Amino acid sequence: MKTMLAALLLCCLATPAPARDATPPATAQEAPSPAQARPAPGPDRETICAIGRGPKCDVQDAIRRGLFETGLRPVFPDGARCRDIDERWAISYTNKRDREQYHGGIDMPAPYGEPMLAAADGEVVAVFEGANSYRGREVILRHSPEQTGLPVWIYTEYAHFDAPPKVRVGDFVRQGQDLGPTGNSGRGKQAYRQSGKRRPAIHFAAFYSASEHYVIFKDRVVVPVDGWWMDPNALYRGRMPLDSASLKALPDEEKKVPVAVIYEDGEVYPAGARFIWPYACKRR
Ligand SMILES: [Zn+2]
Repeated sequence: MKTMLAALLLCCLATPAPARDATPPATAQEAPSPAQARPAPGPDRETICAIGRGPKCDVQDAIRRGLFETGLRPVFPDGARCRDIDERWAISYTNKRDREQYHGGIDMPAPYGEPMLAAADGEVVAVFEGANSYRGREVILRHSPEQTGLPVWIYTEYAHFDAPPKVRVGDFVRQGQDLGPTGNSGRGKQAYRQSGKRRPAIHFAAFYSASEHYVIFKDRVVVPVDGWWMDPNALYRGRMPLDSASLKALPDEEKKVPVAVIYEDGEVYPAGARFIWPYACKRR
C-alpha cells in the first residue's frame, strides 16, 4: 500500500515541491507528522486525507483544514439577478453519504446547459471524467498571486458538467470564460449510479496554499501541497484571511460579502474585480 502510494505520488507529481515551508493559519491545529518515512516531495498523508477524503480517511482531517461553516453569505449587486446558493458551504452531508461528511463547496442550481464560467484568470490543472465521483465531470483551475492579488495560490473547482468540459489541462483561461455546460453528472450513494432526482447545478469549491505545488491523486482529486479548504464566498472579499476559523470569527456585518458578477453581455461589475460569480447574472 505504501509503495502504491509512493508510486502514485511520484508518477503524478506536477512539479517538484519544496520542503513544507507554508505557515498554516495560527488557529489551525497541526496533526502530528507521520512517524514513518513518507514519499517526498508532495503533500503529507494528513493533507491528502483532508482534501481527498478517501474512504479510509478521518473526517476530522478535513475539518482541521478548514471544512467547517463560517457564516459568510453572498450579497449580489443591486439590480442583478443571479443564481443563488441552495446548498451552503460545509453543511452536513452525512445523510447523503454513508459516513460523516460535510459539503466541500457551494451549489447553485441552474438549467441544463447554462455555461459555468471561470471565476478568475487561471490555468487548467485538471479535468476529471468523474465516473465514480460524487462531483462527476469537473474542472480545476489554479490561480497565481499575480492573477488574484492574494498572497497565496488559489484553486477553484467546477463540477457536475453535463458534457465533457470545453477546456484542457494546461490551458490558460480568462475570467468569465465558458468552461462547459451545467448538468448533474456525478454518482449518488451507490457507486457509478447517479441519483435520478438531483437537480442540475454547479458545485463550486475553492482551496488555497502558500505553495504553488500540487499532486493529482488517483485521477480524482487535486491536492495542493499544504492545501486548505476555504469557503468559496471568501474569494469575493478579495483579501486575507481565507482560513475558516478567522472568517467564522468576523463580525456579522462583515460576513455579508458583496459579490462581483459578470452580466450576460460580458460586463464585469464592479469593473476590475479579480473573482466573479461562476454564472452570468441578468439585469433586472
Ligand atoms: Zn456541492
